Amino acid sequence: MENNFINQKYIEDLLENAKFADDSDINLSLDKAEEGKNLSHSEIAALLATKNPEHAGRIFDIAGKIKKRIYGNRIVMFAPLYVSDFCVNRCVYCSFKCVRNFERKKLTMDELREEVKILESIGHKRLALEAGESDEQCSIDYILECIRTIYDMKFKNGEIRRVNVNIAATTTENYRKLKSAGIGTYILFQETYHEQVYNSVHPAGPKKDFTWHLNAFDRAQDAGIDDVGGGVLFGLSNPDFDVMGLLLHNEHLEKKYKTGFHTISVPRLCPADGMDISDFPNLVDDAVFAKITAVIRIAVPFTGMILSTRENHNMRKKLLQLGISQISAGSSTEVGGYAKKQRNEKTNPQFLVNDERSAVSIITELIDDGFIPSFCTACYRGGRTGDRFMSLAKSGEIGNVCLPNALMTLCEYSMDYGDDAFREKSAAIIENEIPHIADDAIRQKTTESIKKIRSGAGRDFYI
Ligand code: SAM
Ligand code: SF4
Repeated sequence: MENNFINQKYIEDLLENAKFADDSDINLSLDKAEEGKNLSHSEIAALLATKNPEHAGRIFDIAGKIKKRIYGNRIVMFAPLYVSDFCVNRCVYCSFKCVRNFERKKLTMDELREEVKILESIGHKRLALEAGESDEQCSIDYILECIRTIYDMKFKNGEIRRVNVNIAATTTENYRKLKSAGIGTYILFQETYHEQVYNSVHPAGPKKDFTWHLNAFDRAQDAGIDDVGGGVLFGLSNPDFDVMGLLLHNEHLEKKYKTGFHTISVPRLCPADGMDISDFPNLVDDAVFAKITAVIRIAVPFTGMILSTRENHNMRKKLLQLGISQISAGSSTEVGGYAKKQRNEKTNPQFLVNDERSAVSIITELIDDGFIPSFCTACYRGGRTGDRFMSLAKSGEIGNVCLPNALMTLCEYSMDYGDDAFREKSAAIIENEIPHIADDAIRQKTTESIKKIRSGAGRDFYI
């Protein structure tokens, strides 16, 4: 399959012409965005290009309003789970690259259950399974076994209700197997849409093939996976080019499969063993990173945006206001890292995380800042994926579905894992938010379910 949707010259011309957009052009585009209208490629390129702080202020303001209107103050929580660091690729930025010499590891099913038990014991319901690429050491059958083990593993009231999967680009046949295993989102970062930069940072291994990687979501969709999540690794290439690449990729999927990215992740390059971050000439500073996040929010208002613990506490706090709808908490980026952390053993992560706070302190702070941490996995379990999810989001009904689900899952979390102070805080935010559920019957149902969760008469309610 060819690459017929990332045209480098087209993106470069857009970025070049965007430099000539004047103040009134940009203000008109921002007015359109404020009214909820779609922006053209050249308008988005102009928002990326502007250096005017007044425009940046408006971009942040509008992104914040869109975020609030579509997602309210809910933040979905997840944790990454690394199962194998064997890798045949040589991505220059990653510590798992094949040329590094270290003791590689793949979890046995017992070790995996130990990791899952720890994540369940702190309340996680949604995981992103991560692995290096190695057919020999980490075959698709091994990944499928991991998925089954994770779904089967229950600890006290804990269970993982949604396993998203972030493994290397693979064949349609393997995507079909992943679909049958009941995965949530299939996540894959393009790393960069700029082909020459892509080639230079992926000198060897199957991932070296730009087009194979780029067309992975087409193969996944052909195999029936209608819930896919994209991303680029900011810091590798020109970030404006990569934002346009993400948007064109999304449009390609929308046109061909009626459903674009369910989520876009915005990872930023971090220091890691075996690489020197000062060798990367396109690092993105905090101000540019915040603007990129806000422009993506404006360009694709209905696509969830994911931020990991690669970002520090302050940056996460800022970006939550600008468009991020999902964050990880208490993360380890190492195979067996959760058990190691618990045993206070020395760790050896894929890259260094910048937010090392525990899950509970992150979740508590979210509540203190007026957010509703959500452990909802309802859409996936109710079959509301792909275009069914997008029509829900676009209909404005999301508030009658996601808000009650967030409140019910937060209530369950507070009963299972919170102390008295946490339960009190959660109860206050729940009481405060229930009147915002517009539909009378759903509001009533939510109130009753919350009563049942509190009294122990029921759990795992969702709409
Ligand atoms: N091995 C598969 C792949 O590369 O597509 C699966 C995911 S890999 C475990 C997860 C992601 O980590 C990669 O897509 C890459 O963007 C990111 N990553 C690797 N090294 C990184 C670094 N130094 N800083 C931040 N992210 C990094
Ligand atoms: Fe392997 Fe993925 Fe790391 Fe590349 S980014 S070296 S494919 S684990």
